[in-house]
Amino acid sequence: MAIESLDLKKSESVKEKDNSLIEFQEILREAVEILNYPPQVFDFLKKPMRFLEVSIPIRMDNGQTEIFQGYRAQHNDAAGPTKGGIRFHPDVTPEEVKALAGWMSLKCGITDLPYGGAKGGIVCDPRNMSLDELERLSRGYVRAVSQMVGPTKDIPAPDMYTNSQIMAWMLDEYDHIREFDSPGFITGKPIALGGSKGRETATSKGVLYTLQMVCELKSIPLTDMRVIIQGFGNVGSYLAKYLYDLGAKVIGIGDALGGLYDVNGLDIPHLLENRDSFGIITNRPSSSISNQELLEKECDILIPAAISGVINKQNANNLNCNIVIEAANGPTTKEALKILDEREILVVPDILANSGGVIVSYFEWCQNNQGYYWTEETVDKRLKEKITDSFKNVYITAEKYGVNMKVAAYMEGIKKLAETSRLRGWLKY
Ligand code: GLU
Repeated sequence: MAIESLDLKKSESVKEKDNSLIEFQEILREAVEILNYPPQVFDFLKKPMRFLEVSIPIRMDNGQTEIFQGYRAQHNDAAGPTKGGIRFHPDVTPEEVKALAGWMSLKCGITDLPYGGAKGGIVCDPRNMSLDELERLSRGYVRAVSQMVGPTKDIPAPDMYTNSQIMAWMLDEYDHIREFDSPGFITGKPIALGGSKGRETATSKGVLYTLQMVCELKSIPLTDMRVIIQGFGNVGSYLAKYLYDLGAKVIGIGDALGGLYDVNGLDIPHLLENRDSFGIITNRPSSSISNQELLEKECDILIPAAISGVINKQNANNLNCNIVIEAANGPTTKEALKILDEREILVVPDILANSGGVIVSYFEWCQNNQGYYWTEETVDKRLKEKITDSFKNVYITAEKYGVNMKVAAYMEGIKKLAETSRLRGWLKY
């Protein structure tokens, strides 16, 4: 089963301690100040408006009951219902979920979607669970948060280690609770249950379109680009395929266990055929290297498409690329970003580069509300338009204020949050 986003087990990777919420708040503060908003804007946006922590008892296959911890954070609902994925991962923390919800708000602001941000998570290791256990856990989570979610309240979607099948179970549980069919409750569903064409590939397509914008900006043809992708799950694998098909050289791929590197370009179709459902490239040749080595190999574009914090102060000085495109959420720490700025390495931020997923989730929700389904070409065309416009706005803001694209993306994202909160009378300025 394909997963939304490949991630690496943190203990197996080069991840530092999770500081996501603090980093979110630090850049938020900077962006609010540059925009000349009063401090109350920062005070309001620095934390989610609502946060729910739940205990979910689940009967395991061996007959024992296990209690799982789950979370749902709703960052801000001034612009509309909140929106964001649910991750299943052993290292999920409340702080991480809160930061991810804030990033979702910014993504929706940058791409001008009628949503605020949310995020959910369950502390579990889906790799050690049977499908039946996963189904019971997915249903248990929906029962636990059902008062707080809904098609006009808060709309979940896939995230790390969750996929369309999990969305289908969650939808079914929600429909049972509400006693009516409600496809707009959740996005990233299977197409047969009201999912959108193009949703599965949306995040990777979005990353591809931002990469094409970067090529335009730098006047370098895509075919001259040598790319390394860390992560071979949903995002990394589709992206590798698109780049390979378009003639770019994918010279490095990383998974949870290590990386493969070949200056002449990797055989992506072969790797796709030989990976498992968690993005592990099986039959690894003896030439494999560590994730750390992979990140530091020479290339034009480095694309972290796995977990957060992999580019940090320990390795930022050793990166050997000109451009970083953040396909994962939060892969570059704030300290690392500063080093990359000094080294004049362009970083295209996550809240812009990986917004393709939520953009097509929005399209899915529109289709559910209309009961009328679009062709893949329509979805793709509208995705490209939206992410390309968002890229331009962020780039223009970065140039105008002399800030990096990360800060510019926060500034673009905050504008809508602040304006909708002010119009509702929540903020006075
Ligand atoms: N989990 C994805 C993200 O982080 C998609 C969220 C959605 O589609 O609502 O952007």
